[in-house]
Amino acid sequence: MNIHEHQAKQILKEFGVEVPNGVFALTVEDLVKKAKHLNTDKYVLKAQIHAGGRGKAGGVKILNNIDELTKASKELLGKKLITPQTGPEGREVKRLYVEESSIIEKEFYLSCLVDRASAKIAFITSDQGGMDIEEVAKNKPEKIITTKLDFNEDISDDDCEKIIKIFNLKDNSKLAAAALIKAIYKMFLSTDASLVEINPLILTKDKKVVCLDAKINFDDNSLFRHPEILKLRDLNEENSTEVQASKHGLSYIKLDGSIGCMV
Ligand code: ADP
Ligand code: MG
Repeated sequence: MNIHEHQAKQILKEFGVEVPNGVFALTVEDLVKKAKHLNTDKYVLKAQIHAGGRGKAGGVKILNNIDELTKASKELLGKKLITPQTGPEGREVKRLYVEESSIIEKEFYLSCLVDRASAKIAFITSDQGGMDIEEVAKNKPEKIITTKLDFNEDISDDDCEKIIKIFNLKDNSKLAAAALIKAIYKMFLSTDASLVEINPLILTKDKKVVCLDAKINFDDNSLFRHPEILKLRDLNEENSTEVQASKHGLSYIKLDGSIGCMV
């Protein structure tokens, strides 16, 4: 199961990970009302759809004041966003998130996933953040490191060090990055996540390490253990035939093409 960025950030925050303060809403009026409580010079408005690549598709906007935010929110809500991850039909924006803007010094990439082939947890890190990681893997594979870990309750300081080495951070920022890895590891195990992707993870001008984007997928087979996570499910974002199948307890995945599988 996939969740929205604002929900993923809330979970990360509960585990002690630094994320920007933000508010979400289903209407422009509610969003603007809530945004007035944010403490920021600029507002970052972000379409909440279950797909990445929103920035380049006009789904992430930086606004200078509440008037600009109101105008941009009206334009974005109800709009169809087409990103490389939505397919050509696009995805309608039904909820909005606005958060405080961060001043970015460096952008990194971080993900953590279950590596089924080796039955380990893999952390993938790169100093080429904010971009399409598949492109980086193709063109600059030396800029990506993969660290595989056994399923232990805790992650060692040595492993944290290996994971964050490519960020080349100093002093307190380095300590903050190591603490972030520990928190994400803990969150990953205790929620039965299958993927956490932070792109970009940033170093701010004042040397904080902050998650600017967040994607979390959970293992469907473990959702019965996490009713609080199941509540975050947004059926609007799921394929209608998959939703129908899941109501009958069937594991069904909609694929393209003309070949069917009955298992
Ligand atoms: P997507 O991956 O869907 O394009 P992101 O959340 O990664 O969406 O946002 C795209 C880009 O917008 C980021 O790489 C970052 O440069 C910028 N951005 C996102 N959130 C903020 C923020 N709170 N402050 C400043 N810039 C941001
Ligand atoms: Mg992103």
